[in-house]
Amino acid sequence: MTLVAQGVPFLDLAREQTMDLERIEGAVKRVLESGRYVLGPEVGAFESEFADYLGVQHAIGVANGQEALEIALRGLGLCPDDEVIVPSMTFVATANAVQLAGARLVLCDVGRDGLIDVESMQAAITERTRAVIPVHLYGQCANMDAIAEVARRHGIKIVEDAAQAHGAEFRGRRAGGLGDVAAFSFYPSKNLGCLGDGGAITTNDTEIYERMRLLSNYGSVRKYQHEIVGRNSRLDEIQAAVLRVRLTDLEICNERRKAAAARYRQALAGLPLALPTEHSRGKHVYHVFAVNVSSSDERGRLREHLKERGVDTQCHYPLPVHDQPAYASATWPTFEHASRQARTTLSLPMFPSLKFEEIDHVTRCLQEFW
Ligand SMILES: *Cc1c(COP(=O)(O)O)cnc(C)c1O
Repeated sequence: MTLVAQGVPFLDLAREQTMDLERIEGAVKRVLESGRYVLGPEVGAFESEFADYLGVQHAIGVANGQEALEIALRGLGLCPDDEVIVPSMTFVATANAVQLAGARLVLCDVGRDGLIDVESMQAAITERTRAVIPVHLYGQCANMDAIAEVARRHGIKIVEDAAQAHGAEFRGRRAGGLGDVAAFSFYPSKNLGCLGDGGAITTNDTEIYERMRLLSNYGSVRKYQHEIVGRNSRLDEIQAAVLRVRLTDLEICNERRKAAAARYRQALAGLPLALPTEHSRGKHVYHVFAVNVSSSDERGRLREHLKERGVDTQCHYPLPVHDQPAYASATWPTFEHASRQARTTLSLPMFPSLKFEEIDHVTRCLQEFW
């Protein structure tokens, strides 16, 4: 009860880490004592353990999720005029990666479920389209069957943005092996997070893999021999050692998120808000539990009501990519769902060690509001 009296945090990372404190300390100490801090045995071991977990051939540790996306796109060998389609309702990194990879950003709308709308994506295709980036938003896979069908017909590559979807499944297969290449982030708040920045790229395509390996490490195959101009984007040994520990807990943590989501759903059914869509075609891992209310005005009042009762909330995302100042120079069509969701979405506290009594406090406050 004291926990709830102090309020309910949106996310309590310190609480998450202390659940594993000894094993994490052990992992960090092992690296400290090894004298190897970059490109050593921990990264190699993590890459193969992560690839096994996902059921893919190859994984490469990189510096963060945005660079994972950028290197994935560069791994496809894009030219400056090539277009890449991205849903407008996503974290801005998905769009940034396209520009930073030297390609042209084309936005499309999402559906009611917040995932890329396949019709809108199809309408955005031109003869220059080379790739599409479905974002597995909030921890749920995009409709990969429909996307693959359109992509195959148009000769377009699929780059999964799996930054919010570690362990999510689509028809029994895990995110990360559902397209040509996939990008993950291990930013601390993600379902699989490290103690700083980190990311990974996964693929079953050996040619793309080899290219991405070079791109992430100075274009180097052998020390002081550089085949192409590459960047320095690597996961370091301490982060890899921590991630090896956290990976063993990922399934349990995702189950806890699912249990929290189920408890929210049960208590919130009947209130005038839209609960997150959960498709039966796969496994949602609830990186975020986002509800939609009826207007931005109502959302503002609700957030205030919750804040006064110690409940911390967030909005993912208050501005769709097409409304970001960074992308304002282009003229975009209207994206009805992305724009409406940006005004009405509200993310409730969600993390594996969130207690049922904390969830009950949140849902009581929501009931009280109406
Ligand atoms: C977090 C995130 C990224 C970027 O990852 P970083 O490691 O923060 O660079 C990209 N796409 C989505 C959807 C994300 O949530």
